[in-house]
Amino acid sequence: MQPENQKSNQERRIPGCVGSVLVFGVPVRFHFTFWLVVVALIVFGAQGKQSAAALTLYISAIFGSVLLHELGHALVARRYSIRTLEIVMLPIGGLARLERSPRAHEEIWVALAGPVVNLVLAGLLFAWLFLTGAPLLPAAWDEITDESLLPMLATANLILAGFNLLPAFPMDGGRILRSLLSRFRPEHEATRTAARIGMGMAAMMGLYGLLALNPFVIFIAFFIYVGAVQESLASQQQVLIRGEKVRAAMITDFRTLDHGATIREAANLLLSTPQQDFPVMTSAQVTGLLTRTALLRAMATEGPDGYVAGAMDRGFGRVSPSTDLADALPLLSGNNSCALVFDDDRLVGLLTTENLSEFLVLREIGNARRRSQAEDL
Ligand SMILES: [Zn+2]
Repeated sequence: MQPENQKSNQERRIPGCVGSVLVFGVPVRFHFTFWLVVVALIVFGAQGKQSAAALTLYISAIFGSVLLHELGHALVARRYSIRTLEIVMLPIGGLARLERSPRAHEEIWVALAGPVVNLVLAGLLFAWLFLTGAPLLPAAWDEITDESLLPMLATANLILAGFNLLPAFPMDGGRILRSLLSRFRPEHEATRTAARIGMGMAAMMGLYGLLALNPFVIFIAFFIYVGAVQESLASQQQVLIRGEKVRAAMITDFRTLDHGATIREAANLLLSTPQQDFPVMTSAQVTGLLTRTALLRAMATEGPDGYVAGAMDRGFGRVSPSTDLADALPLLSGNNSCALVFDDDRLVGLLTTENLSEFLVLREIGNARRRSQAEDL
């Protein structure tokens, strides 16, 4: 894709993040719940025998390990020319958001990279402990001292690797399983099977959490269950449209606004056409996109005499007609209901969520018709 895509893509990020750093060129953001957990860990952990400094060091090192895990995914994804939009640090771990989902044969390596990082870290730490003759395993929880730092860190990395290798969506293990399954069966079946295994494991884990009265296990089980359902839906959708190009689903009959147009003129167009989002032109160049939401907001704040140029979004999503629909999908996530389709520098269409879902429905009906005709023969 063109650099402009990347710029506008980057703006589409998970809300609720506080603070960000750039690591190996990948933006790392911290969700506000992440900080809550850090504070809680330090407050509760301060009751042990560890010094506050050692405890803080330990917690930072754990999150460092999680971050390195995510960077493992990001760096292998980069090998397949998949950019990482951002890494979001959540209380339950990290989340590397990729520009597009990896193909089945790429996915196994991208998914393996994270747990492998933790295994290598654990291996190095255990090797160091072994060579220096220090105890390999941490003492019991209430016996923890500052000397326990390295064994605890080594064990934590082992647990991180093991937990992420559980063959359950959305864990890395679930992706590895899906990737392996898809060598023997169609991708959507592989996804469904992997998702079912994930939901089954989450249900068992949840049951165990209830019986053992362990809220933490219940929380993790719930997280895995929701993740499995979401992943399954998202990838079913991706599989449905794989192979289709943006060209097939885009709106080619559309209206544009001049950048000197008023909000009133834009509102009239919104009422008189089925269109919701309008490209804004400065002579022959597209300079922005006025979405329905932005139009309504401008109507409320600036009134009908305001100008569209002040309300339009300059960081709109761009795709080319030959882009795979599955790859264009991330542009239509969250608040973004429309992306503009450019052939070189010429605006040739709009890709909207409504149009995309109509395209999918029509395609499904077409497929069903073909199936029933094949059965009649
Ligand atoms: Zn991972």
